[in-house]
Amino acid sequence: MADYRFGIDFGGTKIEVLALDRAGKEIVRERVPNPGKYEDAVIAVRDLVIKAENTVGCVPAHRMSATQPTSTLGVGIPGSLSPETGLVRNSNATWLNNHAFGRDLEAALNRPVRIENDANCFALSEAADGAGTGYSTVLGVILGTGMGGGIVANARILSGHHHIAGEWGHIPLPWATEDDLPMRKCFCGNEGCQERYLCGPALAVEWKGEGNHSPSGIEDAAKNGDQAAIRALDLYMDRLARACGQVVNFLDPDVIVLGGGVSNLASIYERVPKLLPRHVITSPCTTPIVQNRHGDSSGVRGAAWLWDIDETGAS
Ligand SMILES: [Zn+2]
Repeated sequence: MADYRFGIDFGGTKIEVLALDRAGKEIVRERVPNPGKYEDAVIAVRDLVIKAENTVGCVPAHRMSATQPTSTLGVGIPGSLSPETGLVRNSNATWLNNHAFGRDLEAALNRPVRIENDANCFALSEAADGAGTGYSTVLGVILGTGMGGGIVANARILSGHHHIAGEWGHIPLPWATEDDLPMRKCFCGNEGCQERYLCGPALAVEWKGEGNHSPSGIEDAAKNGDQAAIRALDLYMDRLARACGQVVNFLDPDVIVLGGGVSNLASIYERVPKLLPRHVITSPCTTPIVQNRHGDSSGVRGAAWLWDIDETGAS
């Protein structure tokens, strides 16, 4: 085992590095803006890692050193690498798609790099020492600007045949009602994807209409009698309960851990468990739906843990 685990959270707007020691304690953490251009982004990651290595005083684990501590490097990205080509797919940071990000980072840093979907990193982090600790099957869901999901089963990321397991956002919203129609178009090419109903911007649009809004403050607005906020939250809770009902029927996770900005809505944890049972084929339905423990840090912590697990599925 290496002495340090480095994780990179490669987000659409920022890049963060974290170094954990053997005990899981944070040693280094730094965040820089994502330049938003592929070649510059590779350089930005390289520079962040080298700076962190110098701060910690360690070398990559594959260069075994008798005198210096060693480190591993994991990277969480939006999207995933194709198991066939190694090229990034399905990233909402679309300029990252079709690039060999893993190979390019390995070349730039001259060290092995493990890359995983950011929602898988979130699920891994929460399963390892977060809100999913002690549960065998953890479904981690990020309800943010998009909607991502990851499954950790028995401390392993379930990658799947195409490395897309857990892409919960691109399943059609089940048990559609008139309020859900017409089925909304998704960037993935399909219609009716849950992401288009359950991501943060979708909630904001339901509340305030079309435009570039944020859903923050919606619960306070609803408490103060804002009818649009009340209706938007009613719709949201019902849709999230349907989405959870479908996944419980299919996967039956031991816990569902929510992350992303929308997971800060306190009413989710009161309302959705009450709405869920009607959609689940067994009774009583007791699946815990909980908020994450590590917040915005889960992605980067999960990336740092990537070398501590044996991934299942194709690689
Ligand atoms: Zn979609």
